[in-house]
Amino acid sequence: MNNKIGVHMLVFTAGFSEKDLDYAIGTAKEIGYDYIELPLLNPYAIDVDLAKKALQSHNMQAVCLLGLSFDTDISSDDPDVRQNGQKLLWKALEVSAGLGAWYLGGVIYSAMAKYLKPATEENRKYSAEFLAQLAEKAKSHGIKIGIEPVNRYESNLVNTGRQAIEFIKLSGSDNIFVHLDSYHMNIEENDQSTPVHECQDYLGYVHINENHRGYLGSGSLDFTSLFHALADIKYTGPIAFESFSSAVISEDFRSSLAIWRDLWTDSKDLASRAKTFIDNYLYAAYRNKQ
Ligand code: MN
Repeated sequence: MNNKIGVHMLVFTAGFSEKDLDYAIGTAKEIGYDYIELPLLNPYAIDVDLAKKALQSHNMQAVCLLGLSFDTDISSDDPDVRQNGQKLLWKALEVSAGLGAWYLGGVIYSAMAKYLKPATEENRKYSAEFLAQLAEKAKSHGIKIGIEPVNRYESNLVNTGRQAIEFIKLSGSDNIFVHLDSYHMNIEENDQSTPVHECQDYLGYVHINENHRGYLGSGSLDFTSLFHALADIKYTGPIAFESFSSAVISEDFRSSLAIWRDLWTDSKDLASRAKTFIDNYLYAAYRNKQ
């Protein structure tokens, strides 16, 4: 198993100060994670030099994730809104490149919010055409672009792995990948294994999340099926642990992801156990296939 294992920065802190970065990156490294996921909800506010220094001092890598808002929705019918979103994503790419990140993904194809109507073919086209341009530029920085299907309450555009593949085909890009997340799969897919098999040729990133986004193993998700499916397709890409609690959350994230409860309070304990959990499931799944 050569998969890199990462953890979302919001497991540790919602801030980007020197102290926050040092704590989050240092703790992730100490636990044994290979890299950290940085939320770029507002890429204009990130001090790239400061973040890069923190990464270098702990010898850690980073990837960048974000979700757009209704003001920056690149699938919008309003050209001004689309332009705002495009500007934000170009900035996010610049920041990602500055940090030496090798991945930029998430809900970058629409707003990460509950829509009140279905997406149209035009909405899909606006988004796919722009992301093809972004992906082309990203390629020159060695950065892959990821489309994370999310549940129906967080986007109307890509809710399943199959829809993500259709979206990628529509874009025509060879630098856009599917990013599956067990939490969203639990709501939108038939089970935890089928989408992995369906996305085999397009899968570039995996998020491991419980059904309530708390401690891995404390919920109802069928991780055995998920990890066996990853072993079936010989997935060697990155796998990251994502978990949110109202104990550590930024205001933007809290409302868009509906994080109202304390599912945990001890970040380090949560992240340590998640790393062991993922390592054990991966090891067992791959042994089973040998
Ligand atoms: Mn996710």
